[in-house]
Amino acid sequence: MKNYLEYGIGAGVGILIFLTYNGVDILPIIFILLIGGLFIYANPRTASRSYEFSGNNGGERGMGLSFDQIGGQETAKSELKEALDFVNDREKIKTLGIRPLKGILLNGPPGTGKTLLAKAAANYTGSVFLAASGAEFIEMYVGVGAQRIRRLFAQAIELAQKQNKTSAVIFIDEIDVLGAKRGNGNNNTEHDQTLNELLVQMDGLKIDMQIHVLVIGATNRSDLLDPALLRPGRFDRQVKVDLPDKMGRLSILRIHSQNKPISPEVDYEELAENTFGFSGAQLESVMNEAAIVAFREEQPQIITRHLRQAIDKVILGEKVDRIPARQEKLRIAIHEAGHAVIGELLQPGSVAAIHVSSRSNALGYVRQTQKNEIYLFTLPDLENKISIALAGFAAEELCLGDCSTGATNDFKQAAGLAKQIIISGMSNLGIISPDDLPKEQLHEELSVILAAQRQITLDRLQNVKRKLEEIANYLVEYEYMSGQQLREFMSNDEWKSDIA
Ligand code: ATP
Repeated sequence: MKNYLEYGIGAGVGILIFLTYNGVDILPIIFILLIGGLFIYANPRTASRSYEFSGNNGGERGMGLSFDQIGGQETAKSELKEALDFVNDREKIKTLGIRPLKGILLNGPPGTGKTLLAKAAANYTGSVFLAASGAEFIEMYVGVGAQRIRRLFAQAIELAQKQNKTSAVIFIDEIDVLGAKRGNGNNNTEHDQTLNELLVQMDGLKIDMQIHVLVIGATNRSDLLDPALLRPGRFDRQVKVDLPDKMGRLSILRIHSQNKPISPEVDYEELAENTFGFSGAQLESVMNEAAIVAFREEQPQIITRHLRQAIDKVILGEKVDRIPARQEKLRIAIHEAGHAVIGELLQPGSVAAIHVSSRSNALGYVRQTQKNEIYLFTLPDLENKISIALAGFAAEELCLGDCSTGATNDFKQAAGLAKQIIISGMSNLGIISPDDLPKEQLHEELSVILAAQRQITLDRLQNVKRKLEEIANYLVEYEYMSGQQLREFMSNDEWKSDIA
């Protein structure tokens, strides 16, 4: 809609230039357009009709959404509730002279439940809920964004009055789009005015106002925000909303299984282990995709296999028809077998599945699980991770005599880990100041670490080359091997004597 308006204005200007070029007097037309434009711009009723923010009591889906319906995020929930108690206890904070809470910033990766938390916050405080996205305020024309900010705050108060509520929650998603640091780039007048207007509106929120307005912003780039937004009196509460840990994943999976017929054989603990690194949105998607698989197979219940297929689909995307030539398939199989064998050797029990089939996001993939969350890594941990990352490349080198472009992402991952070794003071360079380390020296040390791990990985694989090829041949044939099958392959005596 906004784009059509901009195209229309562009076309209008073009027509005016054309008329002038042909000698037509366009002054009267400009005069009429100016009067019309001024009327639309200045009239709040027309403006509000042209741009309304989505608002209701907690959102349609969020109607009555409570914190209990949000899985995990225990720290975020308790920090948020603590802050919201100020909104609920207005009289007390007035007598103590505490300044009202105006803004809370939810900071975390996409799909972790920031919108849900904002809706639950509105419900917890009995407030009306209005949602907008930062991008809705960024326009080409100076003043439009600022006008929308004014409209948003006015609409929040109107809505609260209409519904006899004493508070309103305004949720601004992707607030970094509208609240990015001022003064960067060339033409920032519109952006600066919009941000200024947000600051002005937040400063205008007073304790004695009939309706308490609370602004909840969400971002995954709080480092981009203008410091003025973060100073006390504006967004002075910051709540971290992280990817869920195992317990969090377990509770999110349970929440999203409530409306689905799940077979009693499904082990939720195992499911939570197999979805390490997933966001709440991805976990919701796993449950949904599993239900779709069950539907396609005309099964009355969702079983473990459906859930495994769903996990793979969420990570790798849909299967595609592209069929690699046999030689290419063998290379992919060798590459993935390399990752899996070294992964299982260095972190026993960690491989969940190996895939060699074209998906929209990958040609092959080894899915690993993690029993416990790990937050700290020692030098051997990081070196092992590098070895696992380089194992695909090393397996290709060992079995085929050359390598392919398939290892590019593995190199990036391995280099990232090697960098972590250097900046943590665990390399030959000792403790360093990362900012002052010359690029050449960093590169040199990275190369030393990676070359050493490449050689170690090659030696490890050399010992089990015959088995590696057997696993790869199996993958060429069947395109899939479960972690259990891999462990059976690896636990037989022949294998043990190979790696001894
Ligand atoms: P974005 O940053 O991309 O806007 P977000 O952090 O606001 O994402 P939400 O929109 O709140 O994420 O979550 C998207 C969906 O993911 C929800 O509708 C819900 O189905 C699911 N979800 C995410 N986190 C949780 C959670 N903690 N508990 C239950 N469901 C969750």
